[in-house]
Amino acid sequence: MKVDLSRLLDKNVYKIDVCNELDTKELKIGTRTLKITKPINVQGNVYKTDEGYYTKFNIICEYKENCNRCLKEFTNKVETILSGRLIEKSQDIENQDYDETLIYFEGDNVYLEEPVITSVLLALPMKELCSEKCKGLCVACGVNLNTEKCICEVDDIDPRLAKLKELLD
Ligand SMILES: [Zn+2]
Ligand SMILES: [Zn+2]
Repeated sequence: MKVDLSRLLDKNVYKIDVCNELDTKELKIGTRTLKITKPINVQGNVYKTDEGYYTKFNIICEYKENCNRCLKEFTNKVETILSGRLIEKSQDIENQDYDETLIYFEGDNVYLEEPVITSVLLALPMKELCSEKCKGLCVACGVNLNTEKCICEVDDIDPRLAKLKELLD
């Protein structure tokens, strides 16, 4: 997924509109795996100012993931914005201070795949939960407490740990 910047060399062109889709099956981050259910939608533009080239994109990513508490698969949608200054990859930026997001271009092209994926991953909710209120599974009998009730009396000790303690004793 790339945008050809050469059109901006034309004095009369100030902006390139981009409407694109990034087709990817899954994204992994840490122990999480997101199944991407629709190509990631990327819409926005690259524009020229006196200071240089900038971009602003709206990104929409729909995915499925398993809930950390009840283990059920749920669907979610992340919407985020990728904006920043375009800078040539070969340029030495070590000694320059930029307090803005930098997006690299090489030659005439800016490759968006990596910055788009990074933006999506940064925008993910910290915890993968089907709902903030998810009750999870009963630690004793394993039923999904969102949909079922059980009669287990669970004290604070995880029964698996209690078993372990028994063995160690
Ligand atoms: Zn859940
Ligand atoms: Zn139970």
